[in-house]
Amino acid sequence: GPAATWDAVDAYFGPLVGEDDVLAAATTRARAAGLPEIQVSPAQGRLLQLLALTAGARRVLEVGTLGGYSTIWLARALPSDGALVTCEIDAAHAAVARESLAQAGLAGVVDIVLGPAADTLRRLVDEGVEPFDLVFVDADKPSNPVYLDLAVRLSRPGTLIVVDNTVRGGAVADAASTDPNVLGVREMVDRVVADPRLDATAVQTVGSKGYDGFVLARVR
Ligand code: SAM
Repeated sequence: GPAATWDAVDAYFGPLVGEDDVLAAATTRARAAGLPEIQVSPAQGRLLQLLALTAGARRVLEVGTLGGYSTIWLARALPSDGALVTCEIDAAHAAVARESLAQAGLAGVVDIVLGPAADTLRRLVDEGVEPFDLVFVDADKPSNPVYLDLAVRLSRPGTLIVVDNTVRGGAVADAASTDPNVLGVREMVDRVVADPRLDATAVQTVGSKGYDGFVLARVR
């Protein structure tokens, strides 16, 4: 079927993407710890890294750490004075991520903030932190609208906001859906459409993670 082809194509492009031993070990560590296998694919992680590099990102915000796999890709795009803040609600996930980030030599660049991401983001807004250059939203999907609003408040003109899992096998196009994950994506998309500060697009993806996609929005 098509999924086998998508896997084969992801495998074919493996050398181009260039996932290294440290990233592969992060996946192995997460699997051994029993974490759900819902991290971005190597090709998608590389895409995030290239976006961060292209944006010249110095400060990255991530919502949803899991085992730190996407975190490693993104943090590797940062200059030596860069910083990545990543939000995770599950202490067991954060512990695995902390270990993999240490193994990657990125412990000093990445700040894992334990707790509900919306609380963390509101606190960052209240603290008036320096804006982020890139935001990657990849946590509980029903909260996508909240994360979008807070991400915009933590942005500057030019900030890129990337939201993962926005196609959901095509379910996002079903206006009658009652799936809270689909509703979270659709409400987020409505807010992007209504926000004149955001220039956005959606990218449908297939690959080892099935049929899904990203919304990308740039703050004016
Ligand atoms: N970005 C990761 C990667 O690609 O390697 C995958 C993140 S996984 C899809 C989503 C993560 O968000 C899970 O680890 C989950 O525990 C976390 N999460 C769920 N609800 C959350 C919340 N309210 N606040 C912070 N993190 C949350």
